[in-house]
Amino acid sequence: MSDRKPFVGGNWKMNTNRSTGSDLARGVTDGLLHEGGVEVAVFPPFPYLLTVRSILRDRGSSVRLGAQDMYHQGDGAYTGEVSGAMLRDCGVQAVLCGHSERRHVMGEKDELINKKLRAALEAGLDAVLCVGETLEEREAGHQDIITSRQVRTGLAEIPGSLAERLIIAYEPVWAIGTGKTATPEDAQAAHAQIRGLLERMYGKDVANRVRIVYGGSLKPDTAGAIFAEPDVDGGLVGGASLNAADFVAICKLAAASARGSV
Ligand code: PEP
Repeated sequence: MSDRKPFVGGNWKMNTNRSTGSDLARGVTDGLLHEGGVEVAVFPPFPYLLTVRSILRDRGSSVRLGAQDMYHQGDGAYTGEVSGAMLRDCGVQAVLCGHSERRHVMGEKDELINKKLRAALEAGLDAVLCVGETLEEREAGHQDIITSRQVRTGLAEIPGSLAERLIIAYEPVWAIGTGKTATPEDAQAAHAQIRGLLERMYGKDVANRVRIVYGGSLKPDTAGAIFAEPDVDGGLVGGASLNAADFVAICKLAAASARGSV
């Protein structure tokens, strides 16, 4: 157990439509109505942000609204992109930066991800920096080198005073959407390594305040054991976040783990 309040994010990716997304948002808010032990955010596709925002607001929900990506420029000739200010204007409170699919499908590099992260924090958004090694990198024994580079470059020029608004999601690429979950021991080792790096970059106090969450095929039957590890502060959930009951169950496991009741 630590003083860090666990965080669970539901990354809907390019899934749902206005109707199914609304049902999902209602299911999540209703399922978590009396659960105060975990900070929860949902990350719907851009076109549904306002619809989901209305649902969260009308139900007086503490579930936060997140976006899956943003661009670092404020405004201008950047066709297809959205800025942090636009997201704020739509009630968004948090944004993912450098998700594995942005890195590996869209080709985003650490330097761009750092610009987005800085712009997100400057715009007043909380930011989730996603890092993690591919299977090839893991098999070559390069996991620590890769995640260290992603964390160091991703956080360049970001002061430790923003620690509370920053979450790091360790998401091994080989576990995302594959049904393969890291073992609790592997997740703990990677998280401890990242926390050690944060300590060298910012000192112990900041390192102890930054939440590091695990992502990669989390399901209600696997999440509890991973959340029980001391350096795992919750999760980022893809596939299972599309089912309200599963997502709510995962959120409750994170809260129970922080209370020490699992
Ligand atoms: C993700 O998209 O961040 C993720 C972890 O996906 P999944 O849970 O489907 O592996």
